[in-house]
Amino acid sequence: MSKLHYEVRDAVAVLRLDNPPVNSLGLEMRTALVAALARADGDAGVRALILTGSGKGFSGGADIREFGTPKAYAQPNLLTVLRAAEDLAKPVIAALDGICMGGGLELALACHYRVATTRASLALPEVKLGLLPGAGGTQRLPRLVGLEAALNMIISGEPVKAEKLRGTPLFDRLTEGDVLEAALAFARELIGEGRGVKRVRDLKIQMPNAEAFLQFARTTVQAAAGPYPAPLACVEALSAAAREPFEAGMKKERELFVTLMATPESAALRHVFQAERAAAHVEGMPESTPTRPVERVGIVGAGTMGGGITMAFINAGIPVVLVEATQEALDRGLATIRKNYQGQLKKGKLTEAALEERLARITPTLGYEGLRTVDLAIEAVFEDLAVKKQVFEKLDAVVRAGAILASNTSALDLDAIAAFTRRPRDVIGLHFFSPANVMRLLEIVRGAQTADDVLATALATAKRIGKVAVVAGVCDGFIGNRMIARYGEAAHELLMAGALPQQVDAALEKFGMAMGPFRMGDLAGLDIGWALRKRRAAESPGRVGANVADVLCEAGRFGQKTGAGWYRYEAGARNAIPDREVTAIIEKFRAAHGYTPRAVTEREIVERCLYALVNEGSRILADGIAQRSSDIDIVYLNGYGFPPYRGGPMFYADQVGLGEVARALRAVAAGGGTGAAAYEPAPLLARLAQEGGTFSDYRRRSP
Ligand code: NAD
Repeated sequence: MSKLHYEVRDAVAVLRLDNPPVNSLGLEMRTALVAALARADGDAGVRALILTGSGKGFSGGADIREFGTPKAYAQPNLLTVLRAAEDLAKPVIAALDGICMGGGLELALACHYRVATTRASLALPEVKLGLLPGAGGTQRLPRLVGLEAALNMIISGEPVKAEKLRGTPLFDRLTEGDVLEAALAFARELIGEGRGVKRVRDLKIQMPNAEAFLQFARTTVQAAAGPYPAPLACVEALSAAAREPFEAGMKKERELFVTLMATPESAALRHVFQAERAAAHVEGMPESTPTRPVERVGIVGAGTMGGGITMAFINAGIPVVLVEATQEALDRGLATIRKNYQGQLKKGKLTEAALEERLARITPTLGYEGLRTVDLAIEAVFEDLAVKKQVFEKLDAVVRAGAILASNTSALDLDAIAAFTRRPRDVIGLHFFSPANVMRLLEIVRGAQTADDVLATALATAKRIGKVAVVAGVCDGFIGNRMIARYGEAAHELLMAGALPQQVDAALEKFGMAMGPFRMGDLAGLDIGWALRKRRAAESPGRVGANVADVLCEAGRFGQKTGAGWYRYEAGARNAIPDREVTAIIEKFRAAHGYTPRAVTEREIVERCLYALVNEGSRILADGIAQRSSDIDIVYLNGYGFPPYRGGPMFYADQVGLGEVARALRAVAAGGGTGAAAYEPAPLLARLAQEGGTFSDYRRRSP
C-alpha cells in the first residue's frame, strides 16, 4: 500500500500523503516524497505540483514511533525533503486541510504557495516537548505571518485556525470548499500566467521596532517559562530570523535545537509524551479487544467524588443517573454541581445555555430502579466495606446483565467488592482524583477476574471523558496512594528529626512539586488520614505508629476547611501561614516520643521523600501492580503535582542513577531510628542499581 499517491491532472502532479492516522513524515514517507518530487521535476508534462493530505488532514509532522531511533534522522531527513521542495524550479503548492502540525507545517512553509481551507488547523507544538521547530519553522513562519504572530504560535505550541491568519502572505488562497479543487484552480492560474516559484526564504521580516519587541518578548517569556529552557530559545531563534540572513538563521535554529534536545527538561517532556501513549496499552491484551457501549452512566453517591465524576461525564455529553441515600444529600450534591458550573460561568468559561444543557443530562433519584438501563454504574459512597457491600448487592440485583459495575474506592480490596456480586468479571475499579471534574488522572483498577472487554471499555471511556488512564492491580492504595503513603511517612519522620512543616514543604516545592506534603494534607483534609489510621490501628494493633496529625485532628485542626491544620488560614484565604501553635505541638510530640531534634538540610528532605516514593514504586513495579515504570510517572504527574520537567519519580530516579538512589537510601537506613528499615532499597531497585540498569528498561518477567 503506497503511502504517497502520485497522479498527474492537467499538467499538475498531485502528491497525496496517505499514511493514517495523521500522515506522519516517517522515513518511508520522506523517501517517497523526495522520489515523487524528482519524478515530477523530470516529467516535461508537469508544470506545477500540489502536495496534499487525506483523512485527518495534511500532516501531523514527525512519526512519533521513530522518536529516539536512528530512523528519525536517517536520510532523507526532514530538512532534505524541505530543501527538495523549495529548490524545485516548478511551482510547488501545499494544499492544507485538517491538521497541519510540526514538521507538516514546516513542509508547507517550504513550498512555494499555500492554499488552505479556513478550517485547517496549524500548529508548531515542539515547545511542548521542550524543543523548538527544527526544520525552518522559526525562520519561515515569521517571514509569512510576522514576528508577533509567529512568536505566539511557537511559544504556545497551540493550534491556530487558518481563518485567523487570513490576509497574511501565509496563504495564497483560502477556501471554504474542497482544498484540492481550489489548489488545482490556483495551479492552472499560475501556469496560465507563467508565474514561477516564490520562496519564503527570500522574504524579509517587516517590523520597524523588531529589536524592542524581541527584548520585551525575552523578558516576559523568561518570566513565564520558569524552569523550562525552550520558550526563551524560541525567542532567540526568532531573533535570528529578524536579524540574520536566512542561512545564518537556519544555522542558529539548528544549534538551539541540538542544545534543547540535550536538556534534561526536554528529555523529561518527551518521556511524558511517550508515557501517556504507552499507558493506554495493556500488556497481553490485543488492541482489537472489543468494547461495550457506554451511553448512559449511573453514579451512586453525590458527595465530593460522585459530584465531580458526574460533571466529568455530563461535560462529555454522557447522561448520568445520580443516586443518593437521602433527599437532603441529593439536593446538596446537585447544589454543589450547580455552584461549580456557576463559578465557570462567572469566569466566562461556560454559557448559561450550556450550563442548563449539562444539568439537564442528570437524572437525580433516590432509588436504584433508575439504574436498570445504565451501561456503567460507578459507586462513590463512603469508604467502608460494609457500605460498599450493600451498594454492590443492590447494583447486582438491578443493573442489566452485561453492564459494568465500578467502584471509586481509594484503597479497599476491589476483589472483595467484586465478590459481593454474581458477576465479578464485570467489576472494575475507576479511581478518580479529587476534584474529579478537573484532575486528569484515572487509575483503572483491574481485579483478578475483570474481563478484558471491561478493561478495554474503561480505557476507551477514560479517553472520551478526557482523562489519562493508568491500569493498576489490586493492593492497598493501588499505585498512587500506596506510594504517597510512604512519602507522607518520610515527611513525618523529617518532622521528628527536627524539621518543621514549612521547611519540608519549601524544599519539595523548590524541587518542583506543585505543593509540599503538609500543604497538600491541609487541602485534602487531615481527617481522612486520621480515620484511615484509626481503622488500620483497629485492624492490626501496633502496626500504625503515632502521628502528629492525630494530635492536630484531636484539636479540631482538619486543614483548610477548619481554618487550621499544619498551618493556619485566615477567613476566606487559602495561603498557608506557619503557626507557632503547630511548632509547639510538634516539639511536645517529639519530646513525648523520645526524638531529639537536629538540623535537617534541604537536600536531605528532597532525597528522603523522593527516594521513599521511588523505593515503593520499585516494589509496585516488581509486584506487577503497575505494568511499567512510566505508568507510575503518569500517576504522579497527573494526580500528585509532580513537575513535568522532571518526568515523574521513576524517570527522575533513572536520571539520577539508581546506584546513587540506592546509596542515598542505604545511608538513611544506616542512620537508624524509627522507620529507618523501610529505606533499605527494595530488591528490584537494589538489583537494577547493582547491574547499572534503569526502571525504563525493566520488563517484568512473566510469573
Ligand atoms: P463523601 O462522603 O463526600 O460522599 C459519599 C456520598 O455517598 C454521601 O453523599 C452519602 O450520602 C452517599 N451515600 C452513602 N451511602 C449511600 C448509599 N447506600 N446509596 C447512595 N448514596 C450513598 O465521600 P467522597 O469523598 O465522595 O468519597 C467517596 C468514595 O470515593 C470513597 O470510596 C472514597 O475513598 C473515594 N475517593 C475519595 C477521594 C477524595 O479525595 N475525597 C478521592 C478518590 C476516591
